Amino acid sequence: MSAAKFEQIGQVLRENKRFVVLSHVRPDGDALGSELALGLSLKQLGKEVHIWNEEGMLEKYNFLPNANLITKPPTEPEDFDVAVALDTAIQNRLGNTVGSIKSAKTWINIDHHPSNPGYGDLVYIDPGAPATGEILFELIMSQKLPMDRAIAENLYVAISTDTGSFQYPNTTARTFEIAAELVRVGVDVGRISQLTYENYPRRRVELLRDLLGTMQFNAGNRVASFSLSLASAKKLGVLPEDNEGLIDHLRAIRGVIVAIFFEELSDGKVRVSMRSKDGKVNVCAICEKFGGGGHVLAAGARVKGTLAEVEKKILEEVCDVVSRVS
Ligand code: 5GP
Ligand code: MN
Repeated sequence: MSAAKFEQIGQVLRENKRFVVLSHVRPDGDALGSELALGLSLKQLGKEVHIWNEEGMLEKYNFLPNANLITKPPTEPEDFDVAVALDTAIQNRLGNTVGSIKSAKTWINIDHHPSNPGYGDLVYIDPGAPATGEILFELIMSQKLPMDRAIAENLYVAISTDTGSFQYPNTTARTFEIAAELVRVGVDVGRISQLTYENYPRRRVELLRDLLGTMQFNAGNRVASFSLSLASAKKLGVLPEDNEGLIDHLRAIRGVIVAIFFEELSDGKVRVSMRSKDGKVNVCAICEKFGGGGHVLAAGARVKGTLAEVEKKILEEVCDVVSRVS
């Protein structure tokens, strides 16, 4: 792998014909918005573009412009000139999409996760960027690739969701400049924000009520956690996408440094989601110990074991780290 410049990536995008654009399992706004933004720009360049995600398009992001372009990968593998992985820290988080690519002459990896090892032929990783959508904006503008309102709205949602609505510390003056430019291109901020943040199904709030019933505090109220069992998820009829962002209710508590969400999965593992409010507590490092990764202040892992076992193991480690730094 080599660290690629936008010029090299731009050249590969211009000179090839058949593209597939991918992102990670359990996609979030940055994953889906980034996939659509780059896919749409390439389509306008006249390219043949497939946009895949293991889960296809999620109901909650159905409002994204041209959302229907994101599909699950086909069962028959296909040949491509270029495969582009977006926002995906480690290749196996591309899930079952990889198996549907028979061949790709060039793999491009564009991401902002510091834990990304740099898989692929052309690699552009900017750990300082708050969202992959921000990197794509810079790529599109610097390479004079097509940009329009639909692309801008997808990028805006990517950036807005990954910065916690322009609140997280990696939000910079540049982030606001980019947002301003996207608004100039045509993003309707009120409409798109309402669709992103004020359009949840009722079951998501019922889920929050259930989670709050399991809320625990540790390390002198500096670590807050809650958990979701398979039984509760079934009882409430929730989809995996319903819990995105609920961890923020724990992070928002005064005095809490680390928030943790435990979700029992059907494969004998527990999905652990972590947030930190203090740069001295690096949750990416903690999650890497358990086979996961992410960012300093937001990370995750899938850990083998029952809910009770994983909770105990993770809480011990987190409390240990928290008590060492504060
Ligand atoms: P979330 O808690 O929202 O699922 O994920 C937070 C961050 O951690 C995201 O940037 C995500 O890519 C990363 N992350 C979450 N789960 C995993 C995992 O199992 N493995 C790795 N490598 N990263 C993860
Ligand atoms: Mn991201």
